[in-house]
Amino acid sequence: MADYDVIVVGAGNAALAAAVSARENGAERVVVLEKAPRAMRGGNTHWSGGVLRFAFDDPHEIGPLLPGVEKEFEDFYAGIQPYTRADFHGDLMRVTSGQTDPVLSRVLVDNSKDTVFWMHETGQIKMEPAVSLTGVRKGNQIIWARGLVVRAEHEGVGLSRSWFAAVERLGIAVRYGAAVTALLQDESGRVSGVRVRDDEGIHELRSRSVILGCGGFEANVQMRTQHIGPLVGGAKVRGTPHNQGDGLRMAMAIGAMPWGQWSGCHATPISADWGNFAPREMTDRSNRLSYPYGVMINRKGNRFVDEGEDGAMFTYAKYGRAILAEPGAKVYQLFDSKTVHLLEPRYSTSDPLQADTLEALIEQLDIDDKPRALRTLQEYNAAAHDSQDGFDPTGKDGLSTHGLTPGKSNWALKLDKPPFYAYSATGGITFTFGGVKVDEEARVIGTDWRPIPGLTACGEMVGGLFYDNYPAGTGLVSGATFGRIAGRTSARG
Ligand SMILES: Cc1cc2nc3c(=O)[nH]c(=O)nc-3n(C[C@H](O)[C@H](O)[C@H](O)COP(=O)(O)OP(=O)(O)OC[C@H]3O[C@@H](n4cnc5c(N)ncnc54)[C@H](O)[C@@H]3O)c2cc1C
Repeated sequence: MADYDVIVVGAGNAALAAAVSARENGAERVVVLEKAPRAMRGGNTHWSGGVLRFAFDDPHEIGPLLPGVEKEFEDFYAGIQPYTRADFHGDLMRVTSGQTDPVLSRVLVDNSKDTVFWMHETGQIKMEPAVSLTGVRKGNQIIWARGLVVRAEHEGVGLSRSWFAAVERLGIAVRYGAAVTALLQDESGRVSGVRVRDDEGIHELRSRSVILGCGGFEANVQMRTQHIGPLVGGAKVRGTPHNQGDGLRMAMAIGAMPWGQWSGCHATPISADWGNFAPREMTDRSNRLSYPYGVMINRKGNRFVDEGEDGAMFTYAKYGRAILAEPGAKVYQLFDSKTVHLLEPRYSTSDPLQADTLEALIEQLDIDDKPRALRTLQEYNAAAHDSQDGFDPTGKDGLSTHGLTPGKSNWALKLDKPPFYAYSATGGITFTFGGVKVDEEARVIGTDWRPIPGLTACGEMVGGLFYDNYPAGTGLVSGATFGRIAGRTSARG
């Protein structure tokens, strides 16, 4: 007899959603195997900002997630625009240049609101407005980024803690320090258990089905270098050191089909001062995402992207990688005193370099060609606007440079009001886009284009949703959506 009905591999948002769903759908004996020790449990989910992107037709639909919100924020709903399924799908299509998997992206978008409400109700995950990340004050009102209003209370730390509490309430066992190393199959080809390495050695555990929710390969330098390239090989890791691609390798070893953009990843601008792995207690405080209100220059003294191409929530996931391609994988973000108050609170984890003239600021930077850097800023200022009329940090304002390459499409104000500030930035890898192919029931598909019986996957392991870029707040909702589905599929046996 099998030891378990369902074995869940991993203990992040996707895996724990899957465990809860498997139990909710009738699986009696469910176990969660977490490679990390208890003190490091929870995967990237713990490190995350906890922001949740989902579709709704009327802002008031959000109300049940945020009890009492109108007392805290004046005219709360007036600052939110509807974000329909068509809007969400349109954003996914736009940022992935139309490459997102047509089936999986529909599953994600169509289930997004229901998933978040399920997390809230079944998972008892408390929510709060994501004000520090996506709200911009305009007079007495906060204007919210489209589709990005809600996050888990206490961000990823709260989200992870709430999922573990939910699993505990349901009597689901979690084994820590239990690294799954292989999938077992019976003679029919059905996945019938796993091989696990823990403090006591190597064991085999049998089950009726297995759910893989054990993350991508972002923490694995060899796989990053091999699949994404040497530049990303050198990136600092923003999240857990435990996502080493184990689940992907195990699944492919029994014939799972690789799917999606294996050469792609989510990499964001982060402080260049951080170490190679982000400290757990600092979670996602390394991000440096307010570049649309300033300019970025590399160590040759040149600008290299359109900082104002779109709001940061639609460019941050690709600009980290762009920074990794610059000399020394290091750049500077420069601001003046007109916009420095707009920087996200996370900038307070660094002390900026500061000066009263651009020349004096550049003098302090680790830049090889300082005269070039000054010319870059002078050319930028000549092409940018000196009046703040029309400047609107709450949305794309069309205030663009003229005759500059690369141009800046929005928020292009001159850097002319001292003091001036510089923050260092590099690219930090968040997660990888390549995964395995799953169908709408989260069943893992083999290279023979047939489901591998007894095996489902969810979370970062699902390939095909993201290419080149990613709309912020989609990873957690995708993880919980496919986790919930995987739990349902696995409980059926
Ligand atoms: C700094 C940061 C900020 C982020 N902010 C947001 C945000 O605000 N909104 C959003 O939507 N997304 C955000 N993300 C992305 C989001 O965190 C991920 O998409 C999501 O957490 C992935 O969930 P997951 O369950 O697939 O993987 P994870 O949460 O990473 O969980 C994987 C689990 O598998 C375990 N594991 C790995 N290998 C094995 C093995 N061999 N055996 C057993 N267990 C194993 C790991 O220990 C871990 O518990 C952020 C990510 C980071 C790093």
